[in-house]
Amino acid sequence: MGLFSKKPVKCAVCGRETAHAHRPKREWGVSGRLCGECHVEKTRAHYDSMTQQACAVCGAVTRMRDLWEPHWKWDMDGLLCKACFDRQDSEHEKRRTRCARCAGKMGIIRYNPKPKWKVSGQLCRACWDALKAELG
Ligand SMILES: [Zn+2]
Ligand SMILES: [Zn+2]
Ligand SMILES: [Zn+2]
Repeated sequence: MGLFSKKPVKCAVCGRETAHAHRPKREWGVSGRLCGECHVEKTRAHYDSMTQQACAVCGAVTRMRDLWEPHWKWDMDGLLCKACFDRQDSEHEKRRTRCARCAGKMGIIRYNPKPKWKVSGQLCRACWDALKAELG
């Protein structure tokens, strides 16, 4: 009668017999029943996997809250770990302060290329002059 007549079930994970079997969630990929301990364990593991993600650059699995969203200008998908974020940031910063044509370091005064030159980034004075002479 009732609960007490139930036969103990073997836990699908640890194999121990348990009178209080828990049904696993479908997304865990476990068939059979779990004992209370394994159920708690699985719930936590699943929760962890939901809140972790691999860095889009180095692939290190990191907690979501320690991951950074890439800057939209970087044109990247996914999230980055702090180390990769910083590296990207400084690389883009470097690129931003270098001339798009000769890669020379630019001073405070930078020149924007004309749209028809199809140059992305800014130019140093010498390159701007050279392109102007070349392409008009
Ligand atoms: Zn178990
Ligand atoms: Zn990374
Ligand atoms: Zn230049």
